[in-house]
Amino acid sequence: MAIDDFSSDELLMWVKRRDGSIAARSLLLGPNSPGASLVLLSGISSSAQVERVGDRYWLLCGAPLQVNQTPIGSFYVAKDITDNRVMSLLLIRSIGVASVVAIAGITAATAIYIRRALQPLQQLCDFSAQISADRLDECRVPIEGAPTEVAKLASNFEEMLVRLSQAWEHQRQLVSNVSHELRTPLTIVSGYLQSTLRRGDNLTEMQRDALQTAASETERTIQLMQDLLDLARAESGRMHFQLDWLPVNPLLEDIVAMARKYSGRQIHLQLPNHEVMIRADANRLRQVLLNLIDNAVKYSDPKESISLHLLSQGSLSAIEVCDRGIGIPLQQQTRIFERFYRADEARNRQGGTGLGLSIVKTFVEGMGGSVAVRSQLGKGSTFTVTFATIA
Ligand code: ADP
Repeated sequence: MAIDDFSSDELLMWVKRRDGSIAARSLLLGPNSPGASLVLLSGISSSAQVERVGDRYWLLCGAPLQVNQTPIGSFYVAKDITDNRVMSLLLIRSIGVASVVAIAGITAATAIYIRRALQPLQQLCDFSAQISADRLDECRVPIEGAPTEVAKLASNFEEMLVRLSQAWEHQRQLVSNVSHELRTPLTIVSGYLQSTLRRGDNLTEMQRDALQTAASETERTIQLMQDLLDLARAESGRMHFQLDWLPVNPLLEDIVAMARKYSGRQIHLQLPNHEVMIRADANRLRQVLLNLIDNAVKYSDPKESISLHLLSQGSLSAIEVCDRGIGIPLQQQTRIFERFYRADEARNRQGGTGLGLSIVKTFVEGMGGSVAVRSQLGKGSTFTVTFATIA
């Protein structure tokens, strides 16, 4: 009676004797009813557990039953939780989908925000990579729509460039002035030394040696001053290149003849059988090629020959200066065009100032050309100067 009172469609109860026979059960647990198989379940514990029976989910629990301290068997309760379970599964699934969508949305929004915040820094980075020492004063940092902190960084960066530009200009001016001021007295000293050496019939051997050393060092210093002055002028834009269309073939013949005379070396010249015209300043080009030939002479064995090739293809012409000398290590090839850079001092027993190639590069680029090097250690080097051409 009690079981019948408390039972409903969703709440079923039964009592099982110790021998497994049913002592009492809800009506809906009758032999042909849908919940009939519930009473066959075994191992139902006193803590609630969920079981699927047919297409329904049941919350089950059981406990020993005593009446007047006489054990009768076990009492079991089953509650139909199918609707709740379906609802909760639906809820979990919806929360799962909503979480994935929310995480994807937040990730995308964060990525867009970070990208937008980093864009001005990327602009600043690209811009700073393009700044060259010669164009410091023209630099305007392009930052649009940047956050306040980045905009402040950009304006500080711009102010720093202005200060650097001024310092750079002062330094250039100083080098130019010092070179100019020192060149004149040094030329006078050199003149006196040369004339004393020429006329000094009563000089002792030691005095002559000392005067000769002084004269050659003075010459070297005058050359250094001249190189510095040329560089400072070219870099400040005060050097004017007389750019004309030049026939290169006779110019190269002339330069090679001169170089053969002063170096006493074998210098081969290979020219194409047609006239090549390039746009350059004849005097500066002469200086460039003499510097390259001078290096080829300095950094190769006196027995080795040097060769110059003139090549012309399409809209470009190239002059190559090749030697079979000591070569330049790969890691130093990008640095040899820097001012005062001299590759591996130990190998540089030859006199030099480290300015020759920076003059070459500054002049060639000032004339609208380019210079490159190919070199193999111990095998030799080839310097190539390229200009626009009309064949
Ligand atoms: P300098 O010859 O006065 O040292 P340069 O600017 O002309 O200065 O050359 C820079 C450096 O490049 C040299 O010190 C030398 O180490 C290297 N170099 C230049 N030309 C050659 C060459 N033809 N062969 C080997 N090394 C060279």
